[in-house]
Amino acid sequence: MQTKILSTSDEDIKYAGGVIRSGGLVGFPTETVYGLGANALDGEAVRKIFAAKGRPADNPLIVHISRFEQWQSLVTEIPEKAERLAEKFWPGPLTVILRKKDIVPYTTSGGLDTVAVRMPSDETARRLIDAAGVPIAAPSANTSGKPSPTSAKHVFDDMNGKIEAIIDGGKCGVGVESTVVTLVSDVPTLLRPGGVTPEMLEEVLGEINIDEAVYSKLRDGVKATSPGMKYKHYSPRASVVLLKGEFDKFKEYISSHADENTVALVFDGEENGLGVKAIAYGRQDDSLSQAQKLFAALRAVDELGADKAYVRYPNREGVGLAVYNRLIRAAAFEVIEL
Ligand code: AMP
Ligand code: MG
Repeated sequence: MQTKILSTSDEDIKYAGGVIRSGGLVGFPTETVYGLGANALDGEAVRKIFAAKGRPADNPLIVHISRFEQWQSLVTEIPEKAERLAEKFWPGPLTVILRKKDIVPYTTSGGLDTVAVRMPSDETARRLIDAAGVPIAAPSANTSGKPSPTSAKHVFDDMNGKIEAIIDGGKCGVGVESTVVTLVSDVPTLLRPGGVTPEMLEEVLGEINIDEAVYSKLRDGVKATSPGMKYKHYSPRASVVLLKGEFDKFKEYISSHADENTVALVFDGEENGLGVKAIAYGRQDDSLSQAQKLFAALRAVDELGADKAYVRYPNREGVGLAVYNRLIRAAAFEVIEL
């Protein structure tokens, strides 16, 4: 299949909407990362997403909507807490899980009786959903397990020849996937941190739970509340290790452990004088800038042909929790205390 690269012109968005309506796949920008979209209500179309990504069938997709009424058509009930969340954070990088109606195929929900829904703020994403005239199921548009795509080029690198089209809408603003919260449990529970922080959620909901998979590896035998959390994720080919400690110690560690196939993932301004190739992933005291650059930096590790990447340990406050959550998975939970 020839993958078309589309612009954000009205004509191209209309074309892409047609592709979705007729059961095809389109890569498209959102404010979080690029999504790989299909008609969420068409099980056959959604199955193609899993095939193109190599995604395990039990890992559910997020359904993207552009209007509030679409939400009512997808879920059995919208409790007051959900309404408050939507009012505060939609359109934006927050995904809310509720019980699904029958209209949502089990292919979309990964076999669960619940469905994850989000209204993106990105203009292009919203225009595409409008043009399609149906809710769009879209996971990140990367090959399963690889770092998520934050540019149309990243999508092309992974999906060329596998999907009908990619809309090039430039770089993504937030840079990490949406915050996922479930309202199906008694107490609202954060399943995946993102641009909307736990503190922001608590302002609206009062106390929330944070699923243990956010910080740490699932223990053997524990069922994942968020199926996606059990899979290896966001990884370059190179093995990734987080080094926790001051920059001086980081430098020392690198100088005694690195060889020519090692790269360092550091904060902006720390790239020089390490004796190895270095990639910056944002400013040290600015988690937002780290979120924006993280996935491109992880992809760059492979572009440099490295087999090992040592990474500066991020601050876990605010959006930093999302940065940490992605990095710790890229590192398969390997952290060295310096
Ligand atoms: P992605 O589409 O790649 O951004 O991943 C979506 C994430 O949301 C995965 O971690 C899923 O496990 C999670 N998710 C989606 N739908 C549900 C659901 N119904 N229940 C629990 N987690 C969900
Ligand atoms: Mg993903």
